Amino acid sequence: MKKALKISTQAVRIGVGKDATGAMSFPIYQNATFSHPAFGKSTGYDYSRSGNPTRQVLEEGIALLDGGCRGFAYASGMAAIANLLLLFGQGDHLVVTEDLYGGTFRLLDKVFARQGLEATYVDTSDVAAVAGAIRKNTRAILLEVPTNPLLKVSDIRKISALAKEKGILTIVDNTFLTPYLLRPLDLGADMTVYSATKFISGHNDVIAGLVAVKEEELGKQVYFLQNSVGAVLGPQDSWLVIRGLKTLSVRIDRQLLNAQRIAEWLSGRQGVQRIYYPGLKKDPGYRLLKKQARGFGAMVSFEVADRRIAEEVLRHVQLISFAESLGGVETLITYPAFQTHADMDPLERERMGINDRLLRLSVGIEDGDDLLADLAQALEKAEKSA
Ligand SMILES: *Cc1c(COP(=O)(O)O)cnc(C)c1O
Repeated sequence: MKKALKISTQAVRIGVGKDATGAMSFPIYQNATFSHPAFGKSTGYDYSRSGNPTRQVLEEGIALLDGGCRGFAYASGMAAIANLLLLFGQGDHLVVTEDLYGGTFRLLDKVFARQGLEATYVDTSDVAAVAGAIRKNTRAILLEVPTNPLLKVSDIRKISALAKEKGILTIVDNTFLTPYLLRPLDLGADMTVYSATKFISGHNDVIAGLVAVKEEELGKQVYFLQNSVGAVLGPQDSWLVIRGLKTLSVRIDRQLLNAQRIAEWLSGRQGVQRIYYPGLKKDPGYRLLKKQARGFGAMVSFEVADRRIAEEVLRHVQLISFAESLGGVETLITYPAFQTHADMDPLERERMGINDRLLRLSVGIEDGDDLLADLAQALEKAEKSA
């Protein structure tokens, strides 16, 4: 029966029927330690770093939604990614999507590089480039689908097949699409990782990270690291993420409609030089993402004519908030070159297209008419005053 349920139904049911009291909303077990019934006996819980009932409901939830055997919840998306990177060590090498989340780049480039973990950044929408970057010491391929902020699409099926052939892992940061739209484990990936801060929780009210693992053996290794390092998600925050997940499908359905409308409007507007949205038929990622995913996501990036206009747009938006982050119910606008990707080498950034004319929208659930009206007035005023 469970298998037949659709993802939106599974998400709503997370935690339901799991507490002895019949509580519909699974309780927050705000608790550090658990007493033992007798010597050598355990209720299944001993100490909350090792396992907490509220966190466990969330962990089982993400495993179910992703089709994995095991899930893990962390204090942030970065804590989740850092935990996975601890699977590797000195002299190991990773192949990584080049225009990835700025924090992941910083973690690899400034922290794990010091521990001797090497990384090569490639355009992973080009399978041949991925194949060419694999070395003898490559242990994993880390993908973001679609990429941030240029929304390029990688072929998870082909890349995981290539990785399997070489005996290396495929890890997908699925923060942008979530299991509701994309299930990387079904396509051959070994692990997914999320900033649950974003679409998963969806309300800009919690920082959290999640991991889902396909195979039991890998699950054991990840659990060992989660418990050893201890960057676990607290019970209150676990509860908030569970609550967010329950409305994942309705939020994303609306966000998809709004994003598609905005992308189409922007692509027809004079003065917008380039538009990045894989849901547009002319976008290079359209066909591939249509094959892999159930929707194109709610991130839309676009380029205006010059830096001054970009800055002025940020000054003139009224309904849309100028803020970092994404995936919440409120529409946000970000300036990637100076915010999320500020830690990248400027020349490297420019080469990829993350220039000072690029703006990124995370489209929320407001009425689409209001969003279009706000963008229209902000662009108009920006172009006049720049
Ligand atoms: C935000 C984000 C992260 C980091 O997650 P935090 O919850 O902010 O630590 C990682 N990957 C992607 C794609 C993100 O958008």
